[in-house]
Amino acid sequence: MTLTRRHFLRNSAQALSAAALAGLPAVSSAARTRIDVQDVNGLALLTGGGCNVVALPSPEGALLVDGGLAEHSSAVLKAVRSATGSKRVATLINTHWHPEQTGSNEAVGKAGGTIISHEVTRLALARKNPSALYEGTYGALPPKALPTVTTYNTGTLEFAGEQVTYRYLPAAHTNGDLFVHFPKHNVLVAGGPVAGRSWPVIDWLNGGFYHGFLRSYEILSEVVKPDTVVIGAQGVPLKGSDIVRLKDVYWELFKQFFILFNKGFGPEDVVEFNKGKEFVGVVPVVADRPLKGLIEEMGDPSQFLEFAYRSLQQATIPY
Ligand SMILES: [Zn+2]
Repeated sequence: MTLTRRHFLRNSAQALSAAALAGLPAVSSAARTRIDVQDVNGLALLTGGGCNVVALPSPEGALLVDGGLAEHSSAVLKAVRSATGSKRVATLINTHWHPEQTGSNEAVGKAGGTIISHEVTRLALARKNPSALYEGTYGALPPKALPTVTTYNTGTLEFAGEQVTYRYLPAAHTNGDLFVHFPKHNVLVAGGPVAGRSWPVIDWLNGGFYHGFLRSYEILSEVVKPDTVVIGAQGVPLKGSDIVRLKDVYWELFKQFFILFNKGFGPEDVVEFNKGKEFVGVVPVVADRPLKGLIEEMGDPSQFLEFAYRSLQQATIPY
């Protein structure tokens, strides 16, 4: 659990309070949370609230993709108001149910905003959830915080003169991931399967699965143009061309995984291989290819490898 804990703290930017994990009302943190805002092709990207939050203004109220952690919600929503000039959030889309994405649901729901998600996300938020990414449980959220419009696959909404599309990424980071495409702005908000220049993590305890992760990169690769700005749940924005490049790397890795899988190796072995440890009779394939070039760019992939491999193992060898 040390690794998962460390990852969680890193991805959350700050340590979560027990109250936030339990889905209890958040303490106002506007004073101590610093939210940075940058323009991305006319959309506002807000960082510092626990995940990347994207906002689009409209006279009827802002459209928000993800809302940050509950403890940063008041700071995030304040920054959204000042960045968009909109007094309220009319629509909030949750890319998935993790605490970093859904911490503003209660405030938005109570103020009468529409919350859109995958149906699996709504079901998850209505109960208590453990995760491979944190200790303890998250949820259930109060009824007002639950999504009011859900899809199993895809949906569109007309917002500020633009046709905004959201679509399911099957069993990738969780089993209820959506991405949101703003074609007029040439921006795609990818949610959990993308983490900027760091390694994304597959929540294998909640239906995240390496096959789905690969399929998601294929879907994203079909939707983006080379210069599309792709914003993941964490990290800096990427380009569409980065997604295509990563898709190829993750496919290569998939082949390597199966070589190791057929030899009977476990997730810990994959991590050791990647560190270059020699095992008798086995070439350390993962260390040499295909991640070699990416480690300098994206850091230590140990947790990504472990969780990706664990997800394959769990799906192939059920309990
Ligand atoms: Zn997540």
